[in-house]
Amino acid sequence: MATTHKTRMLIIGSGPAGLSAAIYGARAGMEPIVVQGLQPGGQLTITTDVENYPGFREVIQGPWLMQEMEAQAVHVGTRMMWDTITDVDLSGDVFTAKGDSGDVYEGDTLVIATGAQAKWLGVPGEQELSGKGVSACATCDGFFYRGKRVVVIGGGNTAVEEALYLTNHATEVVLIHRRDSLRSEKILQDRLFAHPKISVVWNKRIDRFLAGEDGALRALAVIDTETGEQSEILAEGAFVAIGHAPATELFKGKLEMDDTGYLIVEPGTPKTNVPGVFAAGDVSDHVYRQAITAAGTGCMAALDAERYLAARHFAGVTETVQY
Ligand code: FAD
Ligand code: NAP
Repeated sequence: MATTHKTRMLIIGSGPAGLSAAIYGARAGMEPIVVQGLQPGGQLTITTDVENYPGFREVIQGPWLMQEMEAQAVHVGTRMMWDTITDVDLSGDVFTAKGDSGDVYEGDTLVIATGAQAKWLGVPGEQELSGKGVSACATCDGFFYRGKRVVVIGGGNTAVEEALYLTNHATEVVLIHRRDSLRSEKILQDRLFAHPKISVVWNKRIDRFLAGEDGALRALAVIDTETGEQSEILAEGAFVAIGHAPATELFKGKLEMDDTGYLIVEPGTPKTNVPGVFAAGDVSDHVYRQAITAAGTGCMAALDAERYLAARHFAGVTETVQY
């Protein structure tokens, strides 16, 4: 039978942003509910080594870090729900979310922490070699390619920034793009073309990722988009940088978002255009996209949710309040 769950702070998403909001929210007595979605623990559960999350001298594993975060959130009083939100109503004093299970979740405040997913090419070998040479995050994995030859796929700002970043580690970086010009900003292109470690391969589409005898990435099979000619590009690391897609489908027409679907927040805060609704983590951040920044904005969302409720309580009203 469908159940209605009520809370002072409803959180959609169980990545670093959602769980950090939960830890702060629970400690503030808001008895948060976290609806976990299809990827409990978020994006870090699909990676292995994490060595840039503060507090750990040794390399830690992404899934382990997320288990610990969840355990901490539960320990301080968070209720974790195995459900995925399929619809939201943000028009009333209480925010309502419908779960795939049929259950309904009602929050006096709402924290949206649904994240963003890297787009993948969807070609053979890509998922099989993920973590064995294929990655979608140079900041996260670039360090593991010290002294190696790597490629970056894409022609936007992300691809160019990833290529430039990788020169800190790799001996050679090859940018592979499907057209004969980049769409990234000119200043980034100038840096890219001037860099002695970087070369660009134009008009090539990735046909498949090829493994070596050791099971790790050996090369990419590519096809020339103009001539149809097939060839191989050798690489020990391949970074797919063709954009990210924020998980904001649920909020279309209900919250302000930019042209690429990221939720718009008041600068320097997690406040959306609906008072009492906050956005934290990658869902509203197309620039930094790191676990630590997601956790930081999750904390901010919980603190602002608490202030919002306190202001409403103090005013003794249910209508929109300034806080
Ligand atoms: P996410 O982690 O994306 O979590 C989103 C959550 O929302 C998930 O739990 C999902 O199930 C839930 N959700 C989505 N839709 C719904 C719905 N409709 N209903 C309910 N729940 C929903 N960052 C680092 O700092 N260091 C690293 O080493 C690092 N390595 C990475 C490696 C890989 C392969 C990837 C992909 C990313 C890596 N990142 C790393 C980036 C980091 O994982 C993200 O920046 C971070 O996870 C963003 O956190 P988030 O909480 O905003 O969203
Ligand atoms: P993007 O601008 O959408 O660029 C994606 C790139 O990937 C394009 O060059 C595109 O090729 C290519 N691509 C897409 N699908 C592909 C496929 N299936 N196969 C091969 N190539 C494919 O994405 P982004 O670079 O991640 O940037 C997203 C947004 O964030 C942009 O608004 C960007 O300006 C912003 N951003 C800003 C900064 C910054 O300000 N420093 C940094 C990063 C991102 P085509 O060119 O042929 O379409």
